[in-house]
Amino acid sequence: MNVSASPNRPVLVCASANPDKVREIELLLVGLVDLRPRPAAVPDVDETADTLVGNARRKAQAVRDATSMAAVADDTGLFIEALPGELGVRTARYASDQPRHATDPYRANRDKLLVALSDIADARGRRARFVTVVVVSYPDGTELVVEGECSGTIATEERGEGGFGFDSLFVPDEGDGRTFAEMSDGEKNSLSHRARAFVALVGALPD
Ligand code: IMP
Repeated sequence: MNVSASPNRPVLVCASANPDKVREIELLLVGLVDLRPRPAAVPDVDETADTLVGNARRKAQAVRDATSMAAVADDTGLFIEALPGELGVRTARYASDQPRHATDPYRANRDKLLVALSDIADARGRRARFVTVVVVSYPDGTELVVEGECSGTIATEERGEGGFGFDSLFVPDEGDGRTFAEMSDGEKNSLSHRARAFVALVGALPD
């Protein structure tokens, strides 16, 4: 995390403690925001809202209230055209409420998605989009809300070692046919849902 003080950079406490997400967010905000880690004493909040913005708001407000500082949170959902009403705001809990795989908490979700789409071979039937909502919650009760989106298709088998979550299955439309997991951090950050949301956030932050 970038903890160097700068009078010109807005200070935001990062509500996420998920190392996969924090790594990407740090790369996106380096030099632009003085991003502080969430204090260890602040627990995870339950993501019980029925919208992405509702969950991002819950996470940002919890950290704001615990620190009395402006806090930033993001929430992401994967929306699959052929599976309306599934995943979406419940993406992290698609296969189970509790991750069962110790070293890869996302594996059960990928396996379940591959099975759910196994009858659909044509990429046109495997359309999907990631949506990320970012909320900044300020101590005076105001907030900023921005969103980023990335559309693509779900591959028929996993490809690539990088990234996390569904990255080894997601082929973005604006790429060259590789999954996010086959791209470098910089390549994923040039077109991902999260990158688009955080670029929008930087543009919306007050001077
Ligand atoms: P979260 O609620 O923002 O943590 O995201 C919900 C779920 O979406 C995660 O558990 C991941 O499975 C998936 N996810 C979020 N962001 C990404 C991403 O950038 N790539 C692949 N999967 C992601």
